[in-house]
Amino acid sequence: MHVFVNAAMSADGKLSTRRREQVRISGPEDFTRVDRLRAAADAVLVGVGTVLADDPHLTVGDSSLRAARTDRGAPANPARVVVDSSGRTPVDARILDSEATTYVVVSSAAADSRRQALRQAGAEVVVAGDDRVALADALPKLAARGVETLMVEGGGEIIYSLFAAGAVDELSVYVGSVVVGGRDAPTLADGDGFVESFPNLSLEDVRRIDDGVLLEYAVTGRSTPDE
Ligand code: NAP
Repeated sequence: MHVFVNAAMSADGKLSTRRREQVRISGPEDFTRVDRLRAAADAVLVGVGTVLADDPHLTVGDSSLRAARTDRGAPANPARVVVDSSGRTPVDARILDSEATTYVVVSSAAADSRRQALRQAGAEVVVAGDDRVALADALPKLAARGVETLMVEGGGEIIYSLFAAGAVDELSVYVGSVVVGGRDAPTLADGDGFVESFPNLSLEDVRRIDDGVLLEYAVTGRSTPDE
């Protein structure tokens, strides 16, 4: 499976405010770029923190991109994936509507009542991991459902875990011209943080878009500080 992460952060590396409220970081040209990326993916993944904070829809906005997908025999929108250990996704979340297939990946600890409620709301429930979703177990289960190209849209916890699992192939970061601040505001990669070996990136492209900069990286492996 090919996994690419795309996120927008402020000039100081924040994905949103300390209240976990969305900030307008990018502009119309970048929205168009993100829409094209979504249209090229088999599935778009977020953590449940993003669902609870933003209630995203994660569908393709441009009708000609949706038509191009159906022309090649694909569904109009990519599948949507929520990583959600205990099944906290609200049953009225926009991500569960009928516009696309939605996989909610829960752990074995998720209550049967939550699994049932999510299924009734339209989700396909996938189980991976014991107390918390194990991504190394979840990704092959998504691949078995036809997901070859996976776009990850955040947030910081899930992005960190995917790097920690060695699952990320490419990273695109849009750096907007705004400062958000806040020691508790989500950053591009949160989690526990790396201390001994760090994912290594190779900078493939730099482009000015709207009033910000797009940085495109390939992930080249892991290194220790003295390498
Ligand atoms: P997140 O990464 O969206 O979701 C994290 C949650 O996923 C965890 O709390 C955990 O909840 C669940 N999870 C299950 N298995 C996991 C695993 N193996 N590793 C990590 N998480 C796992 O949440 P977030 O970091 O709080 O980010 C949300 C914030 O980011 C929001 O404020 C949103 O606005 C912002 N955001 C910004 C962008 C951008 O591009 N600027 C994009 C997306 C989101 P359980 O323990 O309940 O399973």
